[in-house]
Amino acid sequence: MIKINENYKKLQTSYLFSDIAKRVAAFQKENPDKEIIRMGIGDVTLPLADVCIREFHKGVDDLASKATFKGYGPEQGYEFLRQAIAENDFQSRGASINADEIFVSDGAKCDTGNFQELFSQDAVIAIPDPVYPVYADTNVMAGRSGDFINGRYSRYIYLDSTEANNYVPDLPAQRPDVIYLCFPNNPTGATATKEQLKKWVDYAKKNKALILFDAAYECFIRNPELPKSIFEIPGADEVAVEFRSFSKTAGFTGVRCGFIAIPKKCMVWDVEGKEYSLHALWNRRHSTKFNGASYPVQRAAAAVYTPEGKEQVKANIDYYLKNAAMIKQAVISAGYRCTGGDNSPYVWVNTQTDSWKFFDRLLHECGIVCTPGSGFGSCGNGYVRFSAFGSRENTEKAMDKLVKFLK
Ligand code: PLP
Repeated sequence: MIKINENYKKLQTSYLFSDIAKRVAAFQKENPDKEIIRMGIGDVTLPLADVCIREFHKGVDDLASKATFKGYGPEQGYEFLRQAIAENDFQSRGASINADEIFVSDGAKCDTGNFQELFSQDAVIAIPDPVYPVYADTNVMAGRSGDFINGRYSRYIYLDSTEANNYVPDLPAQRPDVIYLCFPNNPTGATATKEQLKKWVDYAKKNKALILFDAAYECFIRNPELPKSIFEIPGADEVAVEFRSFSKTAGFTGVRCGFIAIPKKCMVWDVEGKEYSLHALWNRRHSTKFNGASYPVQRAAAAVYTPEGKEQVKANIDYYLKNAAMIKQAVISAGYRCTGGDNSPYVWVNTQTDSWKFFDRLLHECGIVCTPGSGFGSCGNGYVRFSAFGSRENTEKAMDKLVKFLK
């Protein structure tokens, strides 16, 4: 008899996106002539930048000739991409991350989900609420969650992110081993200042904890005062790793490419207190289970860092940021409280009612689809997320309707 991993029984079925799809389908059936505008999606809609497409094609052409053919590449990624990442994403901002501290992958979902494999089963995990659900679920699978009681896992430390703390969680009363942080945050759109991140870095140092920093949305940060990387904080290279993705930066959601920055200074310990390099541990794991992102994809990703690429990618992000600003403006003008919307593609709205009730009313009265906040954690109830990844035309149309609806 094949026995299953019992931890999987503790996973809560996420009905969020299937429930949304069901409700939208039912509404469409009853109202076949009504237009539906989807403001719930977290996927990009603009095509790839020209320069990425060109390099992608060149990468494919290289595979067509014997002289330039590439088979298995380095598991950690090609040097040309790792070097471009280290220089542009980190060194240019004063963070001393080198090319050999970058691990290229097929995206941040796998990386944020897989990284927990390096830690002991009794490691205590701190997770923001609300947040991207992958951190919680992958630790459930690994047996670190405890039981699900009254909407929360008993062994997790939840980092409540609410209006009261401006959606940047306070340090926990109980000491965690591993701390997930995500800024700009999905779903709240909140960002953290250098001072706020410094608090976490100092706390991690003092408590021999590790910060797993998800910066998948850093490209939306336009305020020059805000850090894009946790490694802009002195000392973070001893206690943090950072996850990045080309998905939102350059529209690679379907192409698939991301990376982790793991400083060589970052140490972890075994039960006897012997020190290990986190970089070496991940290198062992990564090269055992991953055979490298595809060569044409890495060529396309490296194009993001060329002068032309930077300009083209920025234009796409500007487009989404303009949508985000419109959403934020509409919500505020209707007298509702929200966060995000600048330095982020998400606007998180306090609906002053149950998330799903608001969702249903908005769908039925306006044909607008949002994402109920309760799907991201219990602190998300009473909120909905609007996404700026749609077209300008749809965003304008939806916001006209939303303002009338909210007023
Ligand atoms: N991290 C966060 C916070 C996200 O919202 C997402 C995707 O929506 C990801 C990671 C996954 O990114 P990728 O497409 O690189 O897997």
